Amino acid sequence: MLKKDQFYLPDGVIYLDGNSLGPLPKAAVSQLNKTVEDEWGAMLIKGWNDAGWMKKPSIVGDKIGKLLGCAPGTTVVGDTLSIKVYQALAAALAMRLERKIVLSDNGNFPSDLYIADGLLRTLKQGHELRVVAPEDVYENITEDVAVVMLTQVDYRTGRMHDMQALTKAAHDVGAISIWDLAHSAGAVPVDMTACNAEFAVGCTYKYLNGGPGAPGFIYTRPDIAEDAEPSLAGWLGHAEPFAFDLEYRPARGIERMRVGTPPILQLAALETALAVWDDVSIHDVRAKSIALSELFIREVEANCPQLKLISPRNADERGSQVSFAFEHGYPAMQALIDAGVIGDFRAPDTMRFGFTPLYLDESDVKRAVEILTDIMKNETWKQPRFQKKGDVT
Ligand SMILES: *Cc1c(COP(=O)(O)O)cnc(C)c1O
Repeated sequence: MLKKDQFYLPDGVIYLDGNSLGPLPKAAVSQLNKTVEDEWGAMLIKGWNDAGWMKKPSIVGDKIGKLLGCAPGTTVVGDTLSIKVYQALAAALAMRLERKIVLSDNGNFPSDLYIADGLLRTLKQGHELRVVAPEDVYENITEDVAVVMLTQVDYRTGRMHDMQALTKAAHDVGAISIWDLAHSAGAVPVDMTACNAEFAVGCTYKYLNGGPGAPGFIYTRPDIAEDAEPSLAGWLGHAEPFAFDLEYRPARGIERMRVGTPPILQLAALETALAVWDDVSIHDVRAKSIALSELFIREVEANCPQLKLISPRNADERGSQVSFAFEHGYPAMQALIDAGVIGDFRAPDTMRFGFTPLYLDESDVKRAVEILTDIMKNETWKQPRFQKKGDVT
């Protein structure tokens, strides 16, 4: 465990859901107060200049970019991930007008597929969204594919794509490559420069601990940044927003992927959360995450025969989460949460556990499995109160 004392974790809680919503960094509380009182409160509208609010999307974007092997000036923050997926895909399609296939997989997060489907329907140019099984992506990268749009780590199983190999396959047939790094950023080492994909997008409230509603990010490879057409031509992606021209002219490079007013309070929390990475290496985090995941798998398989591993057994093919299938996964997860072990459930039967070495250690993992074992042995999950479904699972 690397930074546990820097996070708020309620007493008695073992948090195995940082892959869905990272915990609150303690420093974010004072920073948020400062931003609210000293900037919003005291500076009012002057904050845009005096507190540097207008530059925050690029400054914070570069901090995320640094973690992902992106060159400075190639990553910007704003909106939500779904919007960033839309922007990346629209720009990619405009670079391959003669091709009509967008290739993705059925392990992708539904929002990415919905956004793609909606965009293709709006375009009305005969595009097709081709969704194949994750293991079949490679052989489906054919000459007619315009864009290969994938999420590196499958949100349900944790299965991880080989970014480099698939990007190369896409480029070999002349297709554009977009990677969604929602479950990669802050979890696994990524090198966008080496990977050479044209676009990457991601969110910041999962392993980057930016807080609920923290903005998404987008990266454009520097050599094509000036060719990327902004589909959402908002005023803050304009070359000169304060010229208030009636005609849109895109800003230079990645700045054109900005849309509207940035969320300054969320950015303050996010920027503080990113400071954790100043003296932590993603490679150390990855090594510890693998060790914790292996321990969890071993202990669960030894003690809870009812649960079946659905994540890849080989750590190199797995992100920073471990998933087990169990027919009564929903009530079992509710019973587990009630006992202080917070993971989550994904339909139809997946119990999902995230491993985040910034604030988790071996004793947490062992204790979590003891509690899980107890629930399985005593069938605590059968209690009626664990069957009720909330809005968010
Ligand atoms: C979490 C996640 C999202 C969520 O998108 P938002 O617009 O931030 O709600 C989208 N795609 C993937 C792959 C995700 O993991």
